[in-house]
Amino acid sequence: MSYTLTTPLYYVNDRPHLGSTYTTLACDALARFERLCLQEVTFVTGVDEHGQKIQRTAERQQLSPQDHCDRVSSRYRELWNQWGISEDRFVRTTNPRHLELVMQFYERVKASGDIVVGKQTGWYCVDCEEYKDDPAEAESPSCSIHRKPLEWRDEENLFFRLSRYQSAIEELVARDDFIAPASRRQEVRNFVAQGLRDFSISRVNVSWGLPVPDHPGHTFYVWFDALLGYLTALLDDGNPVSLDRLASCGWPASVHVIGKDILRFHAVFWPAMCMSAGLPVPQKVFGHGFLTREGQKMGKSLGNVLDPELLLERCGTDAVRWYLLRDIQFGDDGDFQQQRFVDLVNNDLANTIGNLLNRTSSMARKWFDDCVPPAGSAAATDHPLACKAIETVKTVMEAMPNLAFKTAAEGILQLAIAANGHLNDTAPWSRMKEPGQEVSVGEDLFAVLETTRIVGLLLAPLLPDLSQRILAQLGQSLDSDDWSNQLIWGRLSSGSALPKPTPVMQRLELDEPL
Ligand SMILES: [Zn+2]
Repeated sequence: MSYTLTTPLYYVNDRPHLGSTYTTLACDALARFERLCLQEVTFVTGVDEHGQKIQRTAERQQLSPQDHCDRVSSRYRELWNQWGISEDRFVRTTNPRHLELVMQFYERVKASGDIVVGKQTGWYCVDCEEYKDDPAEAESPSCSIHRKPLEWRDEENLFFRLSRYQSAIEELVARDDFIAPASRRQEVRNFVAQGLRDFSISRVNVSWGLPVPDHPGHTFYVWFDALLGYLTALLDDGNPVSLDRLASCGWPASVHVIGKDILRFHAVFWPAMCMSAGLPVPQKVFGHGFLTREGQKMGKSLGNVLDPELLLERCGTDAVRWYLLRDIQFGDDGDFQQQRFVDLVNNDLANTIGNLLNRTSSMARKWFDDCVPPAGSAAATDHPLACKAIETVKTVMEAMPNLAFKTAAEGILQLAIAANGHLNDTAPWSRMKEPGQEVSVGEDLFAVLETTRIVGLLLAPLLPDLSQRILAQLGQSLDSDDWSNQLIWGRLSSGSALPKPTPVMQRLELDEPL
């Protein structure tokens, strides 16, 4: 089965920030999970490079828009590479193939009778690239998001006849499997219920955009062009650009993962555009929340922006991925708190998981010849840790496809906590001093080592690097074609060598604010 997931195509107005990193890390975990479940995954990310805002930003820096886009795009690519993101496609909307696709799509939509010429008047925010609802007589209104003056526009635009799709979109957003999480459905349903209005898809006097073929002086509205980037990405397989090939290239998307601020574009405008072009609509749109820092909105004016490059350099991927995916319910807003970040990473990863593996492996090596002890009765699936492991595998398998990363991570952590409990209850270090206890001590150590093996395997999509180190310490490795079988209890082989342990997770020490 093919499984297509996308991040938003990030607007290259500015360098990557923590928000885009967060979305991309979450998508990476999902992509890795689906691959391990043997889906044929296409993980799409990329950048949206047109529009007046980019044109103006480039002008301010005395760069051509293309040079500006090249610079920012390559920073995205580099950063995703440093984070170990496993994307299959990185699309740029300045790629000539994208222009070809937009032309084909436009022709289809036009042939459906969905393009009309109209007049667009109203207050416009260039930073939002969006018309606002302020009344015409408003005196110097400003954008509530950007706190910048709105610009009055009165121009001829091409419109997409969204109003024709009222009932189809109503039906779509009424479905319970289309918009996730459930908490975001109502606002979209309310918006649709107010009545859909045609929306403008072209601009005049914006030169940094794709030209509308039959209307000189018009360029496509950046949103119209950007959404189509998902299709360009899927067709980027070396074969010609053709909408007819999409069905065999992974369309429709299984899920578009986006920030909640662009839900309307993805759950309303975009499906209608697809319908008009005779394409299936995406299967799901997931709108996640925003991150604040220590309870405050991050912003340049507050000087509290958390730079993802700095975070990566100081803390590493495992720590950041764990904190973001384990502490914040994906979908809800989240707050980055440095002390909590440090505490969770040290408690969960360094102590609960890392120390557990380290001390168990050391005991096994000491008393069982540097090897995994004989499993004995611990190989049975009714061993308490086996039961817990089986339950945890089930939890993770159910949580991950629903982007419930927190549920999955907490489940894995609980499994490691149970193994720590078992070790403390059975106290092999004191029982080993008594005669005739060797067999049962071996069984207990086997059970704990086997649990850490399953913890390591289950962490593979969430924390691929730490997962690899845990498995290596057990003399194991991930077999990405056989993950589900590897997860079966009892697969650790007794008598196999245990390498000399080293800490799998360094403690985080952050003396100063990041
Ligand atoms: Zn704005």
